[in-house]
Amino acid sequence: MASKTMTVPKTTKEGFNPFKMAQQQFDRIADKLGLDEPTRELLRNPLREYHFQIPIRMDDGTMKIFHGFRVQHNDARGPCKGGIRFHPQETIDTVNALAMWMTWKCSVADIPLGGGKGGVICDPHNLSEKEQERICRGWVRQIARDIGPYQDVPAPDVMTSSQHMIWIMDEFQTLSHGEFQPGVITGKPVGLGGSRGRTEATGYGLIYILREVLKEMKMDVTKTTASVQGFGNVARYAAELYSQYGGKVVAVSCWDQNDATSYGFYKKNGVNLEELLKITDRFGTIDKDKAQKLGYQVTPGDEWLTHDVDILIPAALENSITAENVGKISPKVKIVICGANGPVTPEAEDALDKRGVTVIPDFLANAGGVVCSYFEQVQNNQNYYWTKEEVLGKLDNKMTDAFYHVWDLAQRKKVRISDAAYMIAINRVAEACKMRGWV
Ligand code: NAD
Repeated sequence: MASKTMTVPKTTKEGFNPFKMAQQQFDRIADKLGLDEPTRELLRNPLREYHFQIPIRMDDGTMKIFHGFRVQHNDARGPCKGGIRFHPQETIDTVNALAMWMTWKCSVADIPLGGGKGGVICDPHNLSEKEQERICRGWVRQIARDIGPYQDVPAPDVMTSSQHMIWIMDEFQTLSHGEFQPGVITGKPVGLGGSRGRTEATGYGLIYILREVLKEMKMDVTKTTASVQGFGNVARYAAELYSQYGGKVVAVSCWDQNDATSYGFYKKNGVNLEELLKITDRFGTIDKDKAQKLGYQVTPGDEWLTHDVDILIPAALENSITAENVGKISPKVKIVICGANGPVTPEAEDALDKRGVTVIPDFLANAGGVVCSYFEQVQNNQNYYWTKEEVLGKLDNKMTDAFYHVWDLAQRKKVRISDAAYMIAINRVAEACKMRGWV
C-alpha cells in the first residue's frame, strides 16, 4: 500500500518565525512589568506541546500520514482554549505563537480560560469531505486524553468549520463511553450545542471596538473608509457591521487557490458585500472574472494596504504588514485594527507608531470569537440557550469593557495600545501563576 508522509518544518518557507515574534513581544512587556526570571521562563514557553501522526485511508485506497499538533500554552486562569487550523504550511512555531496569543487574548478579554492551539498540516482544497472527516476523527483519537471541557477546548480556525467541530465532538463522545460532552469543543452548529451569534462574533467584536476607538479619536464612522485583507469569516462580518454603522469598505481581498496568488477587489464608491458573497466560494475566494463584470477593479493582492482609507483591517493571515511593505500604507490611514492573528510585525508596528497610526492589536480586536466560545461553553454547562440578541449584547459589553481597560491604561501610562493590552493580559496570567504557587 502506498504511503505519503509530510515533514514538519520549524519555520515558514520565508524563514519568518511567528513564535520568535511572539516571544519578542512578550520579552518587551516582561521588561516593562519587571517580571522575575521564573515567571518569564514559564510564560515565554508553552506548558505542553503535543505532536502526533494521523494515518488516514484516502478515498483512492492509499494511506497517507498527516502531522497533527496541539499546544497548551498556559492554563493558570482556566482550561486552554484555541482553534484547530488545517493549513498546508502549518508549522509548530506558528501553533506555538498562536497558543501564546490565545493566553493573552483570553486574559485581556477577562474570560476564565487559558491559551491553546492546534493544527494539521493538510490542504482541505485537495481533500474530500470524507477524508477531512477522517482527519478530524484521527486528530481527536490522538489527543482525546489531553483535551476536554475542563482541560482544553478546541474551536474552528483557518479552513476548519462547525462541521469539523461536530466530527470531533462525536468522536470524543465515542471515546468517552458515549457521554455527551458538548463543552469539549466550541464553534458547533446552533441546535447541536452551538451558540447563536458565533459566526458573527469575531468580525462584530472587532467592530464594537472600532466603534469605541473612533469615538475616542473623535472620528465620525459615517465619514470613514476602510480596506480589508481577506474575505472569510472575520473579514466578512467585520465589513458587514462596519457598513451597518455607516462606514464604507472600498476594498477586500482573497487568496486564489487556482492561481496560487492573492487578489484585491476595489470599488471607489464602496463594495457591495451581498453581491460579492454570491460569487465567493466556501474558502472565501472571490471569482475575479465575475467581480470584474460587476465593475470591481481586480488588483494584485498586496494593494489592499495602499488605498487612501482611514482604516485598514488585516483579516486574512499572519505577517501581512511588515517592515518591507509598511511604507506603502497611505498617509491617510489613522487606524489599523487587526482581525487576523499576528498580521503586523513588531518592526511594522514601530513604524506605524512613529507615524501616529493607532494600531489595535489582534488579541484584543479579534477576541470576540473566543468570548462567544466562552458563552457557548456557559450555555452548554447550563443546557440553556440564549437568543442571538442576548449573545451579541453580552459580547458588545465584554468587548467594550476590555477595550476601555486597555485604552485607559494606555492613556495613563502613555504607552501604545498593544503595550497596554499586553501589560494587562500578561499581568493577569502572571498573578494567577503566582497565586497557584507555580512560580
Ligand atoms: P477564513 O478561512 O474564513 O478566511 C480567510 C480569508 O483570507 C479567505 O477569504 C482567504 O481567501 C483570505 N486569504 C488567505 N490568504 C490571503 C492573502 N495572502 N491575501 C489576501 N487574502 C488572503 O478564515 P477566518 O476565520 O476569517 O480567519 C482569518 C484570520 O483571523 C486568521 O488569522 C485567524 O487565525 C484569525 N481569527 C479567526 C477567528 C474566527 O473566529 N474565525 C477568531 C480569531 C482570529
